[in-house]
Amino acid sequence: QLTLDVYEKWLRLFAKKVESNKLYLSELDAAIGDGDHGNNMARGVSAVEEGFNLKTPQDLTSALKLTAMAFISKVGGASGPLYGTAFLEMAKASSKTDDLSELLEAALAGIKKRGGATAGDKTMVDVWEKVLPTIKDGSISEDGIEEAVEATKDMQAKKGRASYLGERSIGHLDPGAVSSGYLFNSLLKAEE
Ligand code: ADP
Ligand code: MG
Ligand code: MG
Repeated sequence: QLTLDVYEKWLRLFAKKVESNKLYLSELDAAIGDGDHGNNMARGVSAVEEGFNLKTPQDLTSALKLTAMAFISKVGGASGPLYGTAFLEMAKASSKTDDLSELLEAALAGIKKRGGATAGDKTMVDVWEKVLPTIKDGSISEDGIEEAVEATKDMQAKKGRASYLGERSIGHLDPGAVSSGYLFNSLLKAEE
């Protein structure tokens, strides 16, 4: 079950994590992309925080919508629309359920539909695909998240800018996988 309270805590923790690792995320993206992932994500999460501060959402659906709009309207590139879609799908699903696992499954379906990536393509999808079942069965752990993120290192990118590098994308972590790792770690902390 996802409550408004936990959700706000979750996103604020995520914002902090992204802000303090902004340079690192952009460095990872510089190796296999265009070096802006940290800046993109920081812009997104600061817009979310600003939204929460300006007008505290009164229910989970509005909070999810606010988050989606922040990513969609403030963040360019691939990650803005993809994270935006994830939160928008969660917002839509939240009218029918507040089950965290179901909400995240709706989000992942949205990411895959929007970006066309599947497991093994070296994107954020690789982390979402591995972590969601562990949320469902309650076995989610920091180590499990870390493992899912690390697994992208040996993959060859098939989607996004990194795919332009072909085999040269191998040996680097996927920046979007790392930021998604932060998202799930923040969720773990918010639920404590
Ligand atoms: P851009 O590549 O447009 O500069 P970002 O650098 O902010 O955007 O985000 C790059 C990240 O987005 C990648 O590391 C990857 O995880 C994710 N990504 C890119 N394309 C896709 C896609 N088609 N499906 C899922 N994730 C993707
Ligand atoms: Mg980039
Ligand atoms: Mg870019």
